[in-house]
This record gives sequence, C-alpha cells and structure tokens, in this order.
Amino acid sequence: MNVLLIGGGGREHALAWAISASPLLDKLYCAPGNPGIARVAELVALDVTDHAAVVSFCVDKAIGFVVVGPEAPLVAGLVDDLNAAGIKAFGPSRYAAQLEGSKGFTKDICRANGIPTAAYERFTELSAARAYLHKMGAPIVIKADGLAAGKGVTVAMTAGEAEAALADIFDGRFGGAACVIEAFLEGEEASFFVLSDGVNVLPLTTAQDHKRVGDGDTGPNTGGMGAYSPAPCMTAALIEESLEKIVKPTVKAMAASGHPYKGVLYAGLILTKSGPQLIEYNARFGDPETQVLMLRLKSDLLTLLLATADSTLDKVSVRWKDEVALTVCLCAKGYPGAVTKGNPIKGLDQDFGAGVEVFHAGTALQGNQLVSNGGRVLNVTALGVTVKDAQTRAYVAADAIDFADGFCRRDIGWRAL
Ligand code: AMP
Repeated sequence: MNVLLIGGGGREHALAWAISASPLLDKLYCAPGNPGIARVAELVALDVTDHAAVVSFCVDKAIGFVVVGPEAPLVAGLVDDLNAAGIKAFGPSRYAAQLEGSKGFTKDICRANGIPTAAYERFTELSAARAYLHKMGAPIVIKADGLAAGKGVTVAMTAGEAEAALADIFDGRFGGAACVIEAFLEGEEASFFVLSDGVNVLPLTTAQDHKRVGDGDTGPNTGGMGAYSPAPCMTAALIEESLEKIVKPTVKAMAASGHPYKGVLYAGLILTKSGPQLIEYNARFGDPETQVLMLRLKSDLLTLLLATADSTLDKVSVRWKDEVALTVCLCAKGYPGAVTKGNPIKGLDQDFGAGVEVFHAGTALQGNQLVSNGGRVLNVTALGVTVKDAQTRAYVAADAIDFADGFCRRDIGWRAL
C-alpha cells in the first residue's frame, strides 16, 4: 500500500525509517518531511492544516493509510476528516485527542474512573484559582488547559511562582484562559507506551527522557534532550499496575463515552511511594522517545499501526530487541531560546557502525549543503548491550558529526547508570 506520513521532525524520521522497512509498503510519502526522511520517502509540500488538500492528495496518489505524527493535526481533527472521506488513518479522533489537548478533560476522566493522579481542581477565573492556590499552598503545579507545546506547566516551589504562572495563563499566553491546579507529586518519572484500537490494548514498551537543557538536569525545560528505552525503573510489576490501574480504565472510559481511543497512548507517569500516578497523556508517539523505540522494535511497525486502525490489535503481538537504545539530541546553540538557522552540518555520510542511526529533527538543504533548521537538529541514536554501551556508541557518533553550531548534553542516561 501507499502510505502518507504527516510531520517533519525526528519522531517522523524514526517512523519513516521503520515504515520504509515494511513488506506491506509500496510507496511512502511524507508531508512536509525533512532531508533525512527524503532518503526513505517522497516529500510533499502539503499544507496539513488544509484537510481537504490532504484528502485530495490521498485520492490522487491512492494512499491506503495515513500516519499522523504530531499532536496538532490530531487535535485539529485530521483523522476525523480522513475517515469521513473513507481514508484509513493512524491516530485518535479530535474528541479522543483531548486526552492530550486538554489537561482538564483527562483529569476529569481520572476522577470519574478512580485512576491514580494528583488531586486537582479546574479553573476558568483567576480569582477562584488564586483562592485555591492559597488554600493549598506550595509546592503546587499549575497547568494551562490546552496544547501548549510542553510549555504550559509550572512546577511552583513557592506561592509567588504559582501566582506568576496563573497570571500568564489568565493573560492568555497559552490561548485560552483555563487551568488545572494540582498537587505536587514526588518520584521518578517514566513514559509508558501502548497501542489502543478502541477496545484492545497492546502494551509497547517504556522509556525515560531528559527535559532540562543542562547536564545534571539543570536549566530550562526543552522538548527533550535525549532518551533511552527501556526505563529500568519500570519493572514488570509496575508496568502491569500502570496497565491495569491507569491505561485500561482510560481506554474503557473512552469507549463507554462513545469516543473510542484509537492510536498510540503515551502515559507520562510519576512513580510515587504509593504507586504509579498519571501526570499526563500524549495522543501520539513521543519525541525523542520514538527514536529509541524504533531502534528496538523487531516487529513490523506498519502491521501494528494498521491493526490499531483496523481494531485487530488482539490478533498481533510485538517483539523488542533485548538491547538498550539511547538517543542524544544535537541542538543548535541557544536552544531552547533563540537559535540561528542555516549553519552547516557535515559528516553524516560516514559509516557509524551497526545499530547507530542519525535521525534528522531540524535540518534543511541549502543547495547540496545540509544545514540546521531549528533548535533540535539531529537525534544520534544507538543500540547497546547496556545503557553505558549504548551511551558510549551514541556519543562516539555524535562527536564524529561536524556541526560547529551544535551542542548536546553529555550525560544522557545518567539515571539508568
Ligand atoms: P506535563 O506537561 O503535564 O507532563 O508536565 C510537565 C512536567 O512537569 C512533567 O514531566 C513533570 O516533571 C512535571 N509535573 C507535572 N505534573 C506534576 C505533578 N503533579 N507533580 C510534580 N511534577 C509534575
């Protein structure tokens, strides 16, 4: 079949890399893609916010399946519009994508179904939110209620920080004026990925990422500086508990609401003393977690994604390599603040050895020269027998790339070492 992949970051390069190896694939297209993805797919300049244009492209090119990478098109209802036109797609409907798009929606599902998560209240008025904040006291967590590209959450250690976060939200910095205020939880964080076809849940695997820009988890938050899989803290017992107490009740509640959740469900967990608690859901694969997941995946990705869309997940299984995968993000200097684009990158055509893949996140071509085109530029990803081994191999490869304007954290994986 012909497949159209939506997106153009490191996650989509990893997905394209895996899909392109599928025996079920005839031709892969990607919109908008990037120069790395161009090695395995034909890039198309489609405006993915124009759903009619995406549908007509699919009809023209006899696309049998559309895989949506990022959250924004899901929340905008791209899968609903494709399905309405009779085109099969991977990813949740607009309604179901609220599990990522609205913190309040997810918290209410947790409350109604006894799913372990931090105690919370929702607010649409600043005065009521402030009153609750002062009743609860710091530390406390303030979350804008909408897609905020990972920037809408403040873990406030003081009431002053919490006040400032509320002011930002109610000034409309994140679009709407609504928030969730929730209790501060302590524990190690881990990501747990499953596929859901609306009824059946197929557990995938676990990962951990590094959000802060600096070594030792210091400095501002980013979209993710690196990741590894599996997460050693997610024991078989904790995976089972997360599946039974968090993921399955969520999938059941969505089905009961008449809006079954179909797609990948990415649970962000905090492992507290009283067990795993849900911090957030994402309605798509993680970035950069997907880069490590795809390196470890032994099964055919396209078969799994199709079974999700076809509601036949009970008929498939998934296998993973025993090795650890670890990815290091090479970023442009200044990230997560302002960066300059257009800086040259060389040395990507060398042989990095078996089990090493360099996924493109923010790159572009200027003539024949590969250049940076964003904050997170490359995801240097390696398999290893141990975390240390994968880490060493990833850094050897990263250091062999000539990107003078680049930098990376030097300690990805430290928690697992
Ligand atoms: P979120 O976007 O909801 O995943 O939140 C971003 C980050 O804020 C998480 O990865 C956690 O590190 C932190 N966080 C969110 N909620 C809480 C909470 N209730 N307690 C402690 N930390 C939290």
